[in-house]
Amino acid sequence: MSFVRVALDVPLPTLFDYTVDEFVAPGMRVLVPFGRRQMVGVVLECINTTEVLPERIKTVSAVLYDSDPLSSELLKLLCFCSDYYHYPVGQTVLSALPTRLRSDKPLTTKSILHYRLTGKGVVLNMADFPQRKSVARKMIAKLQVHACTLAQLKRLSATASTQLQWLEREELVESFEATPLRAVPATNHSFENAHPLTSEQQLAVDSVNGIEGYACFLLHGITGSGKTEVYVHLMDSMLQRGGQVLMLVPEINLTPQLEGYFRSRFPEAVLVSLHSGLSENQRLHNWQLAQSGAAQIVLGTRLSIFAELPGLSLIIVDEEHDSSYKQQDGLRYSARDVAIFRASQCRVPIVLGSATPSLESYHNAQTGRYRMLKLTGRAQVDARLPTVGCINIHQAVMHEGISEKLLRAVEQRIARGEQSLLFINRRGYAPVLMCTECGWLSDCRHCAGKMVLHLQEQRLRCHHCGYQLRVPKACPDCGNAGLHPLGSGTQRVESILQERFPGARILRVDRDSTRNKRAWKTMREQIHANEVDILVGTQMLAKGHDFPALTLVGVLNPDSALYSSDFRAAEKLFAQLMQVAGRAGRADKPGEVWIQTAFPDHPLFRCLQNHDFEGWAAAQLSERQMAGFPPFVFQVMLRAEGMVEAEVYAYLHQARAVAIELKHDIEVFGVVPAVLARRANHVRAQLLIQAATRKGLQQFMREWKPLLDTLPTKKLRFSLDIDPLEF
Ligand code: ADP
Ligand code: ZN
Ligand code: ZN
Repeated sequence: MSFVRVALDVPLPTLFDYTVDEFVAPGMRVLVPFGRRQMVGVVLECINTTEVLPERIKTVSAVLYDSDPLSSELLKLLCFCSDYYHYPVGQTVLSALPTRLRSDKPLTTKSILHYRLTGKGVVLNMADFPQRKSVARKMIAKLQVHACTLAQLKRLSATASTQLQWLEREELVESFEATPLRAVPATNHSFENAHPLTSEQQLAVDSVNGIEGYACFLLHGITGSGKTEVYVHLMDSMLQRGGQVLMLVPEINLTPQLEGYFRSRFPEAVLVSLHSGLSENQRLHNWQLAQSGAAQIVLGTRLSIFAELPGLSLIIVDEEHDSSYKQQDGLRYSARDVAIFRASQCRVPIVLGSATPSLESYHNAQTGRYRMLKLTGRAQVDARLPTVGCINIHQAVMHEGISEKLLRAVEQRIARGEQSLLFINRRGYAPVLMCTECGWLSDCRHCAGKMVLHLQEQRLRCHHCGYQLRVPKACPDCGNAGLHPLGSGTQRVESILQERFPGARILRVDRDSTRNKRAWKTMREQIHANEVDILVGTQMLAKGHDFPALTLVGVLNPDSALYSSDFRAAEKLFAQLMQVAGRAGRADKPGEVWIQTAFPDHPLFRCLQNHDFEGWAAAQLSERQMAGFPPFVFQVMLRAEGMVEAEVYAYLHQARAVAIELKHDIEVFGVVPAVLARRANHVRAQLLIQAATRKGLQQFMREWKPLLDTLPTKKLRFSLDIDPLEF
């Protein structure tokens, strides 16, 4: 009899043994009985003996043949993640798969209508073909390379359908049914070269291309220095060698734009995207295109690091510092770090790109673990870096939080037909409502946070738990009618601007105004068509967008991050401000950035004014080294939350005591409340432990984790976070 060890989506750190009468191999999906249910699992091992008693062992119900087995490479990667992040192996393996592969409904791979040249079409002499039929010509040229679906042909022109009918009537093209995986040979590609590379770009491209096997590169290039162009050239060389390229990007928002851009540069290549915005079927389809090797370029958010890529030859992580690479629940992985592991496992190069690298990566590049590649100038000759200045809010004339100086600058832009962006990282009208008589504040009754005033909707809303109320007419405590909004959010800034510039076209971009799926796309089009004079927005606007008419950026309220209890807050602020500043003046118009602050002499703003990332990073790193913070130490955070405060703390104190007893060379901090000490009626607290080396931390974890699993947890929710980013 033979046995298999199966990974199942259950919160236990083990595999489950079953007998099986058919042939199976690791990586295959199986249906097995578990409790009273049938579950889909993945076979990780085939074995000859098992410790499960013969009368207790169950049999695999079915071996699923509707998808190709997972490669041993991917299984190894997933086991590494389970091990490193101390997350149950079954949940790790299954959470990496597209939803459709996790369900017990059989997959039907639908065949799709494709088009190809007929015999007559193949021998057609293009010289005899009507010149004016330019769309039909393009379609024939494309079909000479490979068969296409209607969707692929439509990308050539909006009139593709009509032209296709004509070609079919002329018997030059015919349709046939095929499953998409087989239909697309991925051998050739063409590459649209855009500009000659600058010498720095060329050096970067040559360095990566010169590598055999694994190496990690940090491409540090200021905004507008042409990092994307470096990626495109690297992709070109990898595709020429017949390899697959995986490119990770931080946000779904960015993928449709980038996808279009890469398609225009590689018109023949098979390019797929992988992100949570796709339908389940689309995601499965794209995943399978990657798995079959047909997809040459895979563009995706963090989850795409777990795509099957048999021909992987390069990984690119754009905006590598971005915190959305870190998953904040379930398997708390960093897609960037997993990407580095995967590259070394597959012996391929990896490029981490950013204008503001994370201090971890920057430190690694300085100490020689990574290789530094620098782009120090803007790629377009006439594009200059913006000038950055501070406005001291204690000395300036202010109007409800916006300085007269900044308002004047906006006014100038309106007169010149240019765009301004006011950046404030807070949505809603005001972060809190206050009673001027008794000092009542709009606390959330379920959380330790404040309810945010949303004036348009006349609501107070908690951004942590979603609880909302109508805005009270009078103070709930003393009955006074004088309730005042404190501070500003995007809505308030919008209304101040509306009052001051009644004729201006103002667009607010935050999570509220873009809740509708299409909204953000429409807004981007409006911005590009110059139908907007002033943009008011949160960090959504800071990332990767190219708005050519934008020449002024005002930063309204950055100070809270300067003295935050989170030691990474300043690093994040610097990166964010550098990114927003990078939005100004990209084309031929010079940009101007004004930061409103109470601390104009703070080193962060000084470095920003001089566009001095190096200086900033050096100062931060030496501070971190003195304080004993990452990247000089390695951390794990145990978080717990529950309805009863005493239980939460008792659990964490026990966990702490157990950790100390192990007598490892680690530092165990005290149990402390989370930054938001109560959320949705749950008390939240945490325990931080750190070690001087990654290895030391892992050795400790291997002993501590099994002990943690034995602690009574009652009804607590708890999680382990290795290399935590948020405090
Ligand atoms: P980054 O990603 O580093 O912010 P981009 O790749 O978006 O920069 O490049 C900024 C602009 O410079 C783009 O408009 C791009 O087309 C242009 N560009 C890139 N490389 C070159 C080059 N070698 N010569 C001229 N223009 C370039
Ligand atoms: Zn009151
Ligand atoms: Zn709340």
